[in-house]
Amino acid sequence: MRLVKLLANLGYGSRKEVQTAIRHGWVTDKEGNRLKADSKTPHEDILFDDEPLDPAQGVVLLMHKPLGYTCSLKDQGRLVYDLLPDRFRMRKPVLSTIGRLDKETSGALLFTDDGTFLHRVISPKSEVPKVYEVTLDRPLKGDEGALFASGEMMLESEVKPLKPAELEVLDDTHARLILHEGRYHQVRRMFAAVGNHVNELQRSRIGGLGLDGLEEGGWRVLSEDDKALIF
Ligand code: URA
Repeated sequence: MRLVKLLANLGYGSRKEVQTAIRHGWVTDKEGNRLKADSKTPHEDILFDDEPLDPAQGVVLLMHKPLGYTCSLKDQGRLVYDLLPDRFRMRKPVLSTIGRLDKETSGALLFTDDGTFLHRVISPKSEVPKVYEVTLDRPLKGDEGALFASGEMMLESEVKPLKPAELEVLDDTHARLILHEGRYHQVRRMFAAVGNHVNELQRSRIGGLGLDGLEEGGWRVLSEDDKALIF
């Protein structure tokens, strides 16, 4: 039953469906030999429908999150998980998002079930830069960049100042903000603190990983090279 449990946990189907797949001979080793439910074949040598299994340490997905979707497993309304195929929704443990984006924020969102990778990205020590494209309600005054970069900015009801962040002004009401941490509604709260309001927000980059070519609602599995771009 080891193989059944492994495949079910990887999201290839319920235990029953996976048993059927094994009976039909869709699960093989690299030489094309059909595997039985009690097979001890190493994970990396197993093929499902002629495709290698996802790596044993887990997968990382990049999604271009659309507006109007929530980063939650069970809120009401549209969830980012609804955009993934069953294969990635049925995994155990479930894929979790690495950090969150607000319902009204679009852009780069990572999912993983690789605990080591997750901790590497969110660890305060790694300070992975997250790049946000911001559309503002009112013109920038000119002094926001210095305050954001100061390392002394305090947000309401917080006890620690924000880490220095870089603001690149694109025009009066458009800016790019680079953060090295991720606090609740951080971008919106930073601009609210300087008397402005964020009308549109998109996360365009996580480290060196951009959205290149991914349409809203689209996603892809990251390769080792993609993952390396983040750090
Ligand atoms: N900051 C915000 O205000 N919202 C996000 O979704 C991400 C960062």
